[in-house]
Amino acid sequence: MNTVLAEQTWTTSAKHFIGSRRNLLIGGEWVPAASGKTFAVFDPAYGREIARVAEADVEDVNRAVEAARKAFEGGPWSRMTASERGRMLWKLAELIEARTDELAEIESIDNGKPLSVARVADLPLSVDLLRYHAGWATKVRGTTMEIPGSYLAYTLREPIGVVAAIIPWNFPLLMAVWKLAPALAVGCTVVLKLAEQTPLSGLRLGELIQEAGFPPGTVNILAGFGETAGAALAAHNGVDKIAFTGSTEVGKLIVRAAADNLKKVTLELGGKSPTVVFADADLNAAIPGVSTSIFFNHGQCCVAGSRLYAHEKVFDQVVEGVASAARKIKLGPGLNADSEMGPLVSQEQYKRVSDYIQSGSNEGARVVVGGQGSVREKGYFIRPTVLTNVSSDMTVVREEIFGPVLVATPFKDNDIEAIAREANDTIYGLAANVWTSDIAVAHLMAKRIRAGTVWVNCTTVLDPALPFGGYKQSGWGRENSEFVIDEYTELKTIVAALKTKQ
Ligand code: NAP
Ligand code: MG
Repeated sequence: MNTVLAEQTWTTSAKHFIGSRRNLLIGGEWVPAASGKTFAVFDPAYGREIARVAEADVEDVNRAVEAARKAFEGGPWSRMTASERGRMLWKLAELIEARTDELAEIESIDNGKPLSVARVADLPLSVDLLRYHAGWATKVRGTTMEIPGSYLAYTLREPIGVVAAIIPWNFPLLMAVWKLAPALAVGCTVVLKLAEQTPLSGLRLGELIQEAGFPPGTVNILAGFGETAGAALAAHNGVDKIAFTGSTEVGKLIVRAAADNLKKVTLELGGKSPTVVFADADLNAAIPGVSTSIFFNHGQCCVAGSRLYAHEKVFDQVVEGVASAARKIKLGPGLNADSEMGPLVSQEQYKRVSDYIQSGSNEGARVVVGGQGSVREKGYFIRPTVLTNVSSDMTVVREEIFGPVLVATPFKDNDIEAIAREANDTIYGLAANVWTSDIAVAHLMAKRIRAGTVWVNCTTVLDPALPFGGYKQSGWGRENSEFVIDEYTELKTIVAALKTKQ
């Protein structure tokens, strides 16, 4: 391990954190897995082991759920005022902000993303989310209703209980906070299962949660595998709600596992989001927009604009513009100052994305830029890739690739209905991008596209105030904004007779 560390340029705090064995946070204590097992964590830029982390399984899940239940039912967390909960979330935001450099570095090393991306996207968004939800803690409220007869009728919004949060590896810290912030704001307790590929920032977050003063058991953090720890959590009868982000395939398993105690479920799943460029679009904005939408975070974004439809008059110009942007993207390890795109997260993802590119070629697609083959000797680097000559029945057009691969198709007429039909020709409905200078076309398209978010003349604008979620097989429910409060609370109706004794 030391030889590996010596070869890196990690700063002291990140090196210290990564260099020592990491345990699970259960009931306020850092404990090894009940089985004593650990698993390896890899640096995808070099494809080598950098740390070992305790591997949670059924017994650890049981203990974590028990601790969360105890903290929810009788612990100090449930006795805290909303204002105190809000202040604690704010404090956690401050602690994260103060450690931006260290956390960004851990994220970059573990996930592969450039340090600059972690610094400008993952970290500030995590901090913002906590501050935004800190504000909601004191604003959860019921209403009163007028009904016939002599009654006082009102509603209360109450925390749903013990929340199991299962998250992916593409934005590890951000996804953890994305689940924790609203759950904690309304008074739930949480068992968080980190992604096996990227457990490090979530475990460091656990230390900051303790430093912020959250009572033991309020947040329990498990590292482990989906088929074991994840499945046990999803099926656990002591869990009241499951909040999941990941693939549509696993989302379906979660729904099945939740059936036994009918726990509430929210799902943020995959996408195959369309980008539509009309002939009248400002190409100086649209071309970088199309490129950012698919290449940001190496295409490992659920909202990635992975299907391009451009009017035939501008198709070649847009494709060439995106290809030229792709050629200029500098690939390298996330910690190198000049890297603009890092490796994919794992060897498995590298193979998956490579196989997709191969399948596209096999089915007759033209590789305009990029293609298979790593650019470096070590690590899981895939070149940003653009495919043309594709048709709507090809695998690369139908399935989520979750890598920097764009498929591009021209369209002829400005027939909004036909273009929208093509954009909607997918099982997914997470996001869409529309580029045009015609305001009516923009809003007509926004209406016709069946997706949770439509960006018009911009892309990938995310904010805690914006509802986020999917139509169709991209998910259930909405996260962020005031609507997320409903997802973590139960609504209670109270009807009291107003009859006096006389
Ligand atoms: P995934 O398999 O859906 O994993 C997401 C989370 O679910 C991980 O924590 C995973 O644990 C866990 N999990 C896996 N199987 C489970 C089960 N049977 N029961 C409960 N939890 C389970 O996604 P992935 O393997 O990371 O990536 C596969 C594909 O998912 C990607 O290529 C992409 O298509 C999609 N994806 C979407 C998003 C998004 O934001 N919408 C993010 C990441 C990935 P492990 O860590 O052990 O797998
Ligand atoms: Mg890793």
